[in-house]
Amino acid sequence: MTDVLELSEITKVYPGSRPVTAIDRVSLKVTPGEFVAIIGPSGSGKSTLLNVIGTLDRPTSGVLRIEGNDVTTFSDRALTGLRAARIGFVFQQFHLLEMIPAIDNVAAGLLYEGVPRKRRRMLAADALDRVGLAHRTMQIPGKLSGGERQRVAIARAIVGDPAIVLADEPTGNLDTHTTGEILALLATLNRQGATVVMITHDPEVAAVASRVISLRDGAVEYDRVAGGSTLHRAAAAITGGAS
Ligand code: ADP
Repeated sequence: MTDVLELSEITKVYPGSRPVTAIDRVSLKVTPGEFVAIIGPSGSGKSTLLNVIGTLDRPTSGVLRIEGNDVTTFSDRALTGLRAARIGFVFQQFHLLEMIPAIDNVAAGLLYEGVPRKRRRMLAADALDRVGLAHRTMQIPGKLSGGERQRVAIARAIVGDPAIVLADEPTGNLDTHTTGEILALLATLNRQGATVVMITHDPEVAAVASRVISLRDGAVEYDRVAGGSTLHRAAAAITGGAS
């Protein structure tokens, strides 16, 4: 089985009068179906690593493979295409278009893939159904709660059936109860086959993942199997799944 992600000796240095090595020779692999949390204190390199994995930023050195392809050799244009087709992003701030209905926000996730409009809307409706928002398809984000907005963003991330969902502090703007619901949703989507990499500074949030990678000063401090926290059980209880 081809790895979804393979990082070999990835280093990212921000240049300047005092260059900062934000990521320091990180090597890791993510296989299909994993739910990985990347944790670490502020400044440990989480965002930089997520930007590199998401091909939003290029590493200074090292090789990044996505589904076996060395994307460090890709042109910017090729990377844009790869991102649109194979990577789903979920952000702390949701990043939804405020004035258009949920269904069009989700359908926008397919714009660059050349899917005809009618089919885009059909797939978007399916994705909204999967995140529990079948009854909210025509609502604009401004009329939705924070948890519902994040569900729309998750639907947009999964609508194109990406190789990987990258979530950047997806519960950072949500209260504890809603956090549990969103984590439960991510866990459910993962059980249904989605590969998820999530960054968080919160160890309790990370514990819903099946693997936790801890960063410190841009390097991997530890990389271990996880799961089974209270929040994990709570999340499983919400969805009725086994913990
Ligand atoms: P985290 O997401 O864990 O808080 P970051 O990836 O944001 O960590 O930052 C890692 C290190 O890189 C920090 O020392 C930070 O100050 C530095 N850094 C992040 N972005 C930039 C940038 N654009 N220019 C220079 N230094 C940066």
